Amino acid sequence: MSIFPDAAAVVRALSPDEPVILNRPHAARRAAEFFVQKFPGKVLYAVKANPSPDLLQILHDGGVTHYDVASIAEVRLVRSTLGRDVTLCFMHPVKTERAIAEAYFEHGCKTFSLDSHEELDKIVRATTRDGVEAKDLRLCVRLRVSSEYSELSLAAKFGVDLTDAAGLLQAVRQKADWLGVCFHVGSQAMTPFAYVQGLERVRAAIAEASVVIDMIDVGGGFPSVYPGMEPPPLEDYFSVIHRHFYELPIAYNAELWCEPGRALCAEYNSMIVRVEKRRENELFINDGAYGALFDAAHIGWRFPVRRVAGPENDAEMADFAFYGPTCDDADYMEGPFPLPADMRAGDFIEVGMLGAYGAAMRTAFNGFGDGPVEAVSDEPMSSLYRGDRADPRVSDNVISLR
Ligand SMILES: *Cc1c(COP(=O)(O)O)cnc(C)c1O
Repeated sequence: MSIFPDAAAVVRALSPDEPVILNRPHAARRAAEFFVQKFPGKVLYAVKANPSPDLLQILHDGGVTHYDVASIAEVRLVRSTLGRDVTLCFMHPVKTERAIAEAYFEHGCKTFSLDSHEELDKIVRATTRDGVEAKDLRLCVRLRVSSEYSELSLAAKFGVDLTDAAGLLQAVRQKADWLGVCFHVGSQAMTPFAYVQGLERVRAAIAEASVVIDMIDVGGGFPSVYPGMEPPPLEDYFSVIHRHFYELPIAYNAELWCEPGRALCAEYNSMIVRVEKRRENELFINDGAYGALFDAAHIGWRFPVRRVAGPENDAEMADFAFYGPTCDDADYMEGPFPLPADMRAGDFIEVGMLGAYGAAMRTAFNGFGDGPVEAVSDEPMSSLYRGDRADPRVSDNVISLR
């Protein structure tokens, strides 16, 4: 695949009728190296955020050796893409017995998460052969924690309540060769304090259960930069997590893990869309609620936008809303998306920061959703890893710990 300098070059070369996903391999590589070098523990990539095989390979090249998978299809995908020398961790707390058995016996996956006694029984059953229980299970109890510091809650669905955690930890300890505790603070956690409250709950659960703990997994939730969401530097998250991890009553050689999805891949993709029609300040574009802009439609996420190859700099700006290409009224993105006030049909827009839960969400509904993928070498519209970002702690849109 040839590498274009930027979106404008792609538009000049292809004048594309369909939305074009742009890959930035250098940005994903940089994110992987940052986490691997700076996080004070093991880094698992949460595959669901963006399962594209080219990205998996880039993250692996950047030093990521562990992969958080949630379905048997993700297990097979990572194995077939990256081979046998990577470690798979099946971190969905509700799995099918057949998926567990295939992951364990055929793909060498030993690490499973769970949040109930039923799931423990299921894992033990699925990994028993000829009446002999598996001796090498690495099991992680998923604890329910608060999502109050995150833009997207993950608190309702999974995780054992603190009141039931001790009993479950004790039961799992009987079956596990290696016992971990994991949690997820919700996606796009805007302050490191999200992890402090999670680790405080872990402490309470461990103290109550009095069992030996081999691993603490602080999950995903590490943020990226979007309009109106400027998180503190990731180093702040890492140092706060490290400090609180060390204060836990756990085995002296216990490991610290994290499972970033968004933070590793948000900068990997942007997308070129074309304006097919303008109606007042609504632009009808060729991707939307059933495409890579799923989050823009369904949860009002504001991705950064810019007009491609237009007179950009001193253009007067206006706020726009978008309609996607399908015939569904719900295919609507409120934004607001600031663009030059003279936007019109035929103009191209680049939508940035779509690598996480963007490119992965495309469907073929209504015959839309296909389109080419190209690589570009310019910088993502914003980055947590470039080192030239203004320190957001001096602004007032984030909670400061100091
Ligand atoms: C989705 C998910 C992640 C990744 O979350 P991000 O917010 O994208 O970092 C990590 N772990 C588990 C168990 C998840 O479900």
